[in-house]
Amino acid sequence: MSTMGDGTRAVRAGLPEPEQFEPSLPGPVFAAHFHLSGEPTGPYTYGRDTNPTWTHLERAIGELEAPGEPVETTVFASGMAAISAVLLSQARTGDVVVLPDDGYQALPLVREQLEAYGVEVRTAPTGGDAQLAVLEGARLLWIETPSNPGLDVCDVRRLVGAAHSAGALVAVDNTLATPLGQRPLELGADFSVASDTKGMTGHGDLLLGHVTCRDPELAAGVRRWRKVVGAIPGPMEAWLAHRSLATLELRIDRQCATALTLAEALGRRPGVTGLRYPGLPTDPSYPKAVRQMRRFGSVVSFVLPDRDRAERFLTELRLVEDATSFGGIRSTAERRARWGGDAVPEGFIRFSVGAESAADLVADVERALDAALSGV
Ligand code: PLP
Repeated sequence: MSTMGDGTRAVRAGLPEPEQFEPSLPGPVFAAHFHLSGEPTGPYTYGRDTNPTWTHLERAIGELEAPGEPVETTVFASGMAAISAVLLSQARTGDVVVLPDDGYQALPLVREQLEAYGVEVRTAPTGGDAQLAVLEGARLLWIETPSNPGLDVCDVRRLVGAAHSAGALVAVDNTLATPLGQRPLELGADFSVASDTKGMTGHGDLLLGHVTCRDPELAAGVRRWRKVVGAIPGPMEAWLAHRSLATLELRIDRQCATALTLAEALGRRPGVTGLRYPGLPTDPSYPKAVRQMRRFGSVVSFVLPDRDRAERFLTELRLVEDATSFGGIRSTAERRARWGGDAVPEGFIRFSVGAESAADLVADVERALDAALSGV
């Protein structure tokens, strides 16, 4: 599988060997327990530990994260379950953990939890590789690149080199890029973590997360954590996720191409400021992004003059749903400041580009901007 193209790998990832009269992708296995006589060993014993539907999905994600390499993936009930599994299973009282200060908005909650357990948490921005300055004595460095929602990019190889020299492990939140955009383990990271609620599954109809590691001991720690807290995905979600992975390349290629087209169109509009898309050659993130990313993601961000105009823009859109989350086949956009927590202006829009036809989407955005910005 290591020499195949991404599309081939995506459609075949994790499929079991063909069996006469069986489907290519076996259906979800609904089981709390399995027949188990005698010694309780074997692959499937109890449904909180293992499930054959997870096994297929975990193999599929592993093949995308590190083609041809022996890695281990553990799937979780959500991205936050995956994030917490790494941070809370690795950090001990007295350890130092370095987080980004511009990452996903639930990270400050994780910070509180870590601090309650006596872990020292340091933060620094993603841009400018600023986390380098606070690595001394750290046990774990957490990177989110591109960052959500600011779309800054840090140099993963450089941060990994410095962190490993300082004796720290490195985890990368790869949600925005997906493994088709960036492969953190190839860049040297110890954990590749993602919310698969977003681009990986791409239909906005389920929550899921995963952690992939090369080191079997690190993987065992993550797996043990899942068993302890029971943050397991349901078999139906796991099966839907696997089914959705088959179209990952189709979806991501369309979404990334349209995101670039939209970013270029937004760049020509007076009244639109603060435009960010890591795949735009004029973007501050671009020089680093091209060195470590193969696709630049489906999220574009920009700023409209104030809250009212941003809300008017969102109301005017016909093809784009006003909703949070990103990476789905239906475009969504939101005024990010409505949540509080992110350091963004009132008119900041996070726009997630779906799989609509680019011309239709750009026309819808242009029309909504005409209405929202009239008189600016
Ligand atoms: N990481 C990033 C970058 C995210 O954007 C999100 C959710 O928006 C998460 C993690 C959390 O994922 P979930 O909502 O699946 O728990």
